[in-house]
Amino acid sequence: MKVAVLTIGDEILTGFTLNTNAAWIGQQLLKIGVEVNTQLTTSDDRVEIIKYLNFLTKEKYTHIIVTGGLGPTHDDVTPSAFYEFFNAKQIFDETYWEGLKTRFAKRNITIPEKNRNQAIKPDNGNIIPNSLGSARGLYFERDGIKYFALPGVPAEMKAMLESTIIPLVQSDSEFAMFVKTIRTIGMGESAIAEKIEHLIEKYKKRIKIAFLPQLSRVDIRLFSKDKNLLNQFVIEIEKILTKNIYGYGEVTLEDAVAKLLINNKMTIATAESCTGGLLAHRLTNVSGSSEYMLGGVVCYSNEVKISKVGVNEKTLITHGAVSERTAGEMACGIQKQFQSDIGIGITGIAGPTGGTDEKPVGLVYIGLALKEELTVKRFLFLKDRKANKLLSSQTALNMLRLQLLK
Ligand code: ATP
Repeated sequence: MKVAVLTIGDEILTGFTLNTNAAWIGQQLLKIGVEVNTQLTTSDDRVEIIKYLNFLTKEKYTHIIVTGGLGPTHDDVTPSAFYEFFNAKQIFDETYWEGLKTRFAKRNITIPEKNRNQAIKPDNGNIIPNSLGSARGLYFERDGIKYFALPGVPAEMKAMLESTIIPLVQSDSEFAMFVKTIRTIGMGESAIAEKIEHLIEKYKKRIKIAFLPQLSRVDIRLFSKDKNLLNQFVIEIEKILTKNIYGYGEVTLEDAVAKLLINNKMTIATAESCTGGLLAHRLTNVSGSSEYMLGGVVCYSNEVKISKVGVNEKTLITHGAVSERTAGEMACGIQKQFQSDIGIGITGIAGPTGGTDEKPVGLVYIGLALKEELTVKRFLFLKDRKANKLLSSQTALNMLRLQLLK
């Protein structure tokens, strides 16, 4: 099996539209153990599309998924490319056209004549129904190769891929490939690779392993045809990486923290300066967060740190807003104000301006008050503002996770 995704659209080439369709298709196919082998993008040009269909056919791809350019507008050239490529005759589908007219009429819209081309179907191919829009997909099969054309609109493309293409690809794949993603934090890619080197060596013939580093965390993705072997490998990795593993599959760090907070029946409140509320945002990204999240204060100015969080004015004068003492008082202050089990205070210099020799950009203090116990840690992150905000929230969540695991 060899899968290619061909995305069509000038707006993708110019970068105005991010090619999330190709990424999403890759992720969905991976879930059924099928890897996309090639991704291509070309312009809204019939000749170009035909050129790439020829290329992918010659290269013996077995499943060719095309998205974009199916609608009724002038740049929607994918159907004409497909009709030409497959030498298909255009048949006007009167039943579909009548149905389309009724659908428009129900919304009090006069159907534009341009939409007539959406009622065309091929004499030697199939139509993929579109439950969300008017542009139907196309599905042709020739010499053992399956060709699909889907709309570019992400919601429509997703619904059609899930209902029609995934089951077809799944039944075509000779063997199931099992995939497992292990999510880790607190250790770099090389450090992990070093620690599990012997395991990689032991299993390398039957398990493919990929390291996917992100800011401050690394995903380890495993692929194998042998499900039991995969589970065995995971058990062995767990023994080595222990608390560095925070979850599997699509579990986020906030999901892991939420679970621990709920299991421990603990409540939390946040006082955030340089993260501007990002930690509170992430804590409330989890459904059911009202079980643990009481509230938070974005205490950017000294005045708010004093009046709303209870930081001592003297602390700010003597140690500064970005200091160990201030972070500690923010954590304890917010815990007291909200009567929560846990209080977290974050203060730092996100940058790119505002740093000094003594307190450079990227310097962040995180305070964690858990019941009676206060921990404050100093970090030196990066020079980039958004990365520093993300790293600060990420680190605070991980500090909390590790504390709750104790
Ligand atoms: P329409 O009926 O609107 O013409 P279509 O099937 O012809 O739909 P396009 O015209 O190619 O699709 O794209 C419609 C919209 O879908 C684009 O404006 C863009 O917002 C989005 N889109 C298209 N391709 C992609 C892609 N690869 N990734 C993410 N979004 C996309």
